[in-house]
Amino acid sequence: METICAQADHPDKDPYGSHAMPLYQTSTFRFKDVEAGKRFFAHEEGGATHSYSRLGNPTVEKAEKIIAQLEGIDLEIETEGMMFGSGMAAITTGLMALAAGKRILAQEALYGCTSQFLQEDAGRYNIEVTNMDPNNLDEVMDAFREHDDIGLVYLESIANPTMRVCDLEAITQIAHQNGALVMVDNTFATPFHIRPLNWGVDLVAHSTTKYLNGHGTVVGGALVAKEGFFAETDMHIYRKNFGGISGPFDAWLTLMGLKTFPLRMKQHNKNGQKVADFLNGHPAVSRIWHAGLENHPDGEIIEKLMMNGHGGMIAFELKDGLDAGVELMNRVKLCTLAVSLGTVDSLIQHPASMTHSVVDPKIREEAGITDGLVRLSVGIESAEDIIADLEQALEI
Ligand code: PLP
Repeated sequence: METICAQADHPDKDPYGSHAMPLYQTSTFRFKDVEAGKRFFAHEEGGATHSYSRLGNPTVEKAEKIIAQLEGIDLEIETEGMMFGSGMAAITTGLMALAAGKRILAQEALYGCTSQFLQEDAGRYNIEVTNMDPNNLDEVMDAFREHDDIGLVYLESIANPTMRVCDLEAITQIAHQNGALVMVDNTFATPFHIRPLNWGVDLVAHSTTKYLNGHGTVVGGALVAKEGFFAETDMHIYRKNFGGISGPFDAWLTLMGLKTFPLRMKQHNKNGQKVADFLNGHPAVSRIWHAGLENHPDGEIIEKLMMNGHGGMIAFELKDGLDAGVELMNRVKLCTLAVSLGTVDSLIQHPASMTHSVVDPKIREEAGITDGLVRLSVGIESAEDIIADLEQALEI
């Protein structure tokens, strides 16, 4: 992983010998002659390699290749990736390609806009949705007994914002036995901690806006699967016609971020654990969820799935509830009050009124996204400085 990332922007071939991947900031590509253009569109050998950047672009393809390699590091077969203009473009394109006309069995607690798409929009595209708690395998099996039209199971490897981790292997086995595919949003965990394809998952989604870019300079997304899956599911056609591909500059910025990805993740890890330990022992905190704490409800699954530590994402509730949380978020000085996560600096936010405000309050409650929940993305600043900031903000 370190080697792939450090050399992420080495061009595979470049006529000028550029060391860094050039930015092909172009909408269209010249054809040598009509035959070259014709062959490209007919998918025939010997034609042009590129035609138009909504279909494909060398800079975008380089980022796709690196992210696919990271998700497929332990696999014997090749993986393939597709970059998108946002995580939501990746997710909705994947959902439309895999589940149009079918039923999706979806985890209850999901990122707000994914949840809103499933609950409010999917029905308009002839997609039915049933919710389940993936940490209750009986519920998953019951859903398959009750519905014979489930085509896709949709999960987050670490759920936003509840930090729950489910057994991807067990759920994938159940889904496959029942003829359904499995799609997993791996944004929080990243391939540094969890590699869903290893557990049999069919399609991995990312908001590359987060840890993969890491610098907060891009909104982007990606899909990754084993080689051949995109052709089988017409994924390129869906991306081409929905038009959600990443712009070249965003893909280039993502490549620049990927160069330090493992290094950043190691620091997020160390800091995440220190800050989680601090909050866990703080008298103002009533509950806390972090994959590296012993009191996490999914300890055994975390042990099985997660590698290289437990990351920098923390959710917690304060004893004095929502008002105390609001006070805390208004008082932080070093942590930034902002949505998003996975940037090198620490970000704090309030899911119920911000990222998850679009989720039906009933679903929020069922999924454990309480009004008092605060989400913290621990950055790579000095852990002592982050803790000092939280300490002063929590002072009564
Ligand atoms: N998935 C998760 C887990 C997220 O947290 C987010 C955004 O916060 C998304 C998907 C959507 O990504 P984007 O904002 O890049 O569209």
